Amino acid sequence: MLNAPKKTQADSIEDLQRQRLVQIFWAVEFAIILCGTVFILRGSTAETLILIVTGLSLVSSYGLAMRGKIGLGANVLLCILTLMACTLVWINNGLRDEAILVFPGILIFSLYIGRRSIFFFLLSIMVSEILIIGVLSFTGHYDASTEPASFFTAVVITIVLTCIAFGSYLTSNDLRKALKRLEEENQRVRKSQGEISHLVHHDALTNLPNRILAKDRFTQAVALSQRNKMSIGLMFIDLDNFKTINDSLGHQSGDHLLKELSFRLSRIVRVSDTVCRLGGDEFLVIIHNITDIDYVSKVARKMLASIEEPVKIQGELISTTCSIGIAMSPDDSSDFETLFMCADLAMYHSKDAGRNNFSFYNEQMNINAKQHLSLISDMRKGIPNNEFVLYFQPKIDLKTNTVMGAEALVRWQHPEKGLIFPDEFIHLAERSGLIVDLGEWVIQEACRTCRQWHLMGHQQLSIGVNVSSIQFKRGNIKQVIEESLGSNNLQPNLLEIELTESTLMDLSPSVAESMNEIHKLGIQFSIDDFGTGYSNLGYLKLFNVETLKIDRSFIQDILNDKGDETIVNAIIQIASSMKIQTVAEGIEDLATVNKVRALNCDIGQGYFWSRPLPADEFINYVDAIAKGSCTLPETS
Ligand code: C2E
Ligand code: CA
Ligand code: CA
Repeated sequence: MLNAPKKTQADSIEDLQRQRLVQIFWAVEFAIILCGTVFILRGSTAETLILIVTGLSLVSSYGLAMRGKIGLGANVLLCILTLMACTLVWINNGLRDEAILVFPGILIFSLYIGRRSIFFFLLSIMVSEILIIGVLSFTGHYDASTEPASFFTAVVITIVLTCIAFGSYLTSNDLRKALKRLEEENQRVRKSQGEISHLVHHDALTNLPNRILAKDRFTQAVALSQRNKMSIGLMFIDLDNFKTINDSLGHQSGDHLLKELSFRLSRIVRVSDTVCRLGGDEFLVIIHNITDIDYVSKVARKMLASIEEPVKIQGELISTTCSIGIAMSPDDSSDFETLFMCADLAMYHSKDAGRNNFSFYNEQMNINAKQHLSLISDMRKGIPNNEFVLYFQPKIDLKTNTVMGAEALVRWQHPEKGLIFPDEFIHLAERSGLIVDLGEWVIQEACRTCRQWHLMGHQQLSIGVNVSSIQFKRGNIKQVIEESLGSNNLQPNLLEIELTESTLMDLSPSVAESMNEIHKLGIQFSIDDFGTGYSNLGYLKLFNVETLKIDRSFIQDILNDKGDETIVNAIIQIASSMKIQTVAEGIEDLATVNKVRALNCDIGQGYFWSRPLPADEFINYVDAIAKGSCTLPETS
């Protein structure tokens, strides 16, 4: 950092000047005593008297210096000395008097310690005297007594010279020191400027270049690649679950992880390439001089593998993954900001495609992005416009072969596009944060509908609602649930919250805490799409869930794929040993129902019984079964 000029520095200059004034005072007094002695020995009474008067008057300048009036003290000293020298010159040998030697000494010192005006004032007095003597001598009006030089003259000259030399030595010494200090200060400023420039262009945590420097390097690289007819790859890298790691292990661990991953990324690329940190968990890599696009894919693959390698933090091995988007210059654009946007879009594509992979930008992504933006803006209007509806898919108790409840699945009745399914808009609602409002409506509507069924005589029916992690992070979900249950007079144990495994993995300790509070209200929790994520059974214990929904992908192939059967069997066994009930999702035929029932699965859901239905059709379905006008397909 640059040091601000300190007050003490100014003080020290004053101190130094006072010190020098006092030193010169003593040197002059000493010289006066010596010269005085010489004059006494020589018998020069007038000169001796002048020196005594001078010596005594000089004490006033000493007094002024000690009182801090350095400038005034110096002026007094200089004037008295000039007066003394002029008088001595006048009454003695005129222009050949040794006292004239005092003039240059006075002038040097006046420049050092006095104002510039005093220098010119004294100079003019000296020159005037010299000229007057010169003119008067020429016209014969002045006749100096030109004594021949004696030993005394030599002594006086030596004393005067020594005194001047002493004063000049002090002055030059101070000047040299001042110059040295100036040079050091200069170096410090240059160093600080270098440091500031580094700070402006680098990320403080990882010391990697930042976006400003990346843009600069990119612009240079574009100029070079145009000459060499080569391409540049811009890679946008985003860590997949950094926030969770940061929230659960603390910022220090998060910083440690970022530093380690920065180091790994830098090791993969060539020295001439640039790895920069954009902030948070986002990195940008510029790969220069590409002749073959396969090279970029190879680098991306290496990066994915390297990021995936666990990092030891607080004695624990932590793994993370990343999603990469790549845009190429000049094919996609030669403008940094445009290319950056392309790489960003490609990165989102990688995220949507399941994370931990890389994608090259293409025109379609841009079209999709525009469509997504327009869909998000439609959704923003659609929520207050009541364009969303809930469909309900029955859940069947496989032991009693009865409808035990339903899962609420949202649909969007778009005014122009018709009925839109959740796969097309839930991820956009999540990305834009609109899921908080939409999710609130879903919970309220699901509870309201369930209450109506109860009033129609089907008190056994429970309702399952899908909830996204964003609702836990940003919404006031506990309050929404309490209000929805309260206003509809619904028992808490009839509301079931479905959370996907990835949602659970995304939850920080504080969010898990709010989930536990909701749990305490008596709400049931189930893990959705079980088997597609990390299938970490630790979650079951940690979050104390009631139900586990085995993902459709395992159920649909269970008759043909022995592996799937083994997995489903293991999940059911483990769940039942933990007193957790299981749901088989996506059952489409009788043989599959029989299979999962044989494996002791508790609940079934799927097109075999019914597709998701609007609320009235759903209740007609349940009514018909209850009245016996329709029966659930019997299974063996
Ligand atoms: P999910 O929670 O796994 O819901 C089950 C999905 O599987 C539903 O698709 C359902 O129609 C479909 N399905 C049910 N039985 C069968 C079957 O036998 N065969 C086949 N092939 N499919 C079957 P849907 O309604 O399109 O919902 C898709 C996903 O959207 C849901 O998956 C859920 O993750 C999400 N979703 C739906 N509604 C909401 C909501 O209100 N909030 C949130 N956050 N997500 C929702
Ligand atoms: Ca679900
Ligand atoms: Ca599911």
